[in-house]
Amino acid sequence: MIVILEPDLGGQEAAIAAVRTVAARYPGVEVKPYEFRGTTHRFAEVHLLGPTAAVPTDAFEQLPGVRQVVRVSAKYRLIGRHGLGNETVGFEHNGVRIDDRTVHVFAGLCAVDTPAHVDVMMAALAREGVVTTRMGAYKPRSSPYDFQGLGKACLPWVFDSAGKHGIKLIAMEATDASHLDEIWDALEHAGHPTGVMVQIGTRNAQNYELLKQVGRQQEFPVLFKRGMGITLEESLNACEYVASEGNTRIVFCLRGVKSHLGDPHRNLVDFAHVPVVRRQTRLPVCIDPSHSVGTGLCAPDGLPDIFHAAAQGIVAGASAVLVDFHPQPARALCDGGQALTLDMLGPLLDHVRRVRAAYEGSVAEVARQGLTVRAQA
Ligand code: PEP
Ligand code: MN
Repeated sequence: MIVILEPDLGGQEAAIAAVRTVAARYPGVEVKPYEFRGTTHRFAEVHLLGPTAAVPTDAFEQLPGVRQVVRVSAKYRLIGRHGLGNETVGFEHNGVRIDDRTVHVFAGLCAVDTPAHVDVMMAALAREGVVTTRMGAYKPRSSPYDFQGLGKACLPWVFDSAGKHGIKLIAMEATDASHLDEIWDALEHAGHPTGVMVQIGTRNAQNYELLKQVGRQQEFPVLFKRGMGITLEESLNACEYVASEGNTRIVFCLRGVKSHLGDPHRNLVDFAHVPVVRRQTRLPVCIDPSHSVGTGLCAPDGLPDIFHAAAQGIVAGASAVLVDFHPQPARALCDGGQALTLDMLGPLLDHVRRVRAAYEGSVAEVARQGLTVRAQA
């Protein structure tokens, strides 16, 4: 059971204490308060755990400051949308706000290789006014003989370059809990010139110990990539693992699913799930068209398949896009075939803006006509 308090409630502590007092009447019921920050509001919820089946909701509904009481199954207790209706939700990290009001493009190297490539990438982003990037230092590879990433050795110069070019947030995968400490130590040593959002890759989507570790820390928000061979529900449950340990600053990333039906693309594009994740959860949604289609090839209209796939996710309301770039794709040590060249950065950003405008236009039109919104089940 979740007792949802009024947003921005003054006297929140007193309201939580009142919930505790009522809950104490029911043996075995545990009380856990949580706070979430939306774009314009602060939300507090008190979760009642344990034998709540016989606990009446009206005992809490009458308390001052209580907006709503919802009975939830254990599923998506923390990441679920529950009583939030159409509220915009998300979080801010190092000055970058990720929610459903804008789209951030995390364009960058799949795998960090040389200081020159990193610097030229960051400089290109800065010229376009982009403050978000992706930089892989720890690479999970299908073959143990493939390049595994430069690891902590590259962090000092990656972070220096980010600081030099005003990059505020880097999406960077961690494949082991020790990487969180390495990233934190390198940021500390460099004087925090930038911020990091820790990426959990598709191969670790059900590595529950790693999920718990990233959930236990508050330094980094988490970019969780959908498991490529599991159901959406299983992936969302994995995010619930992160949240249940305390870290609710999670972005859910769709990156395609493994199926020969996606051939000749690397994966089958699953961006039709953007609205599903937005309806079922409060998580901002990211899309990764690069790892979905896995090729830099263009359609006869001149647009790369990556642009086309990105459009599918953006027009469905995605909040972020992860795209592989490389100054010299032929020399990339990982996923060069799907990397876009830097001359495509400006066109990609224009494309994203145009598609986002189309999406916003449709949303505004539906609202203007007052079309009935179906249940938010
Ligand atoms: C990546 O983004 O670098 C990556 C390895 O993606 P995924 O985990 O989705 O395969
Ligand atoms: Mn890759």
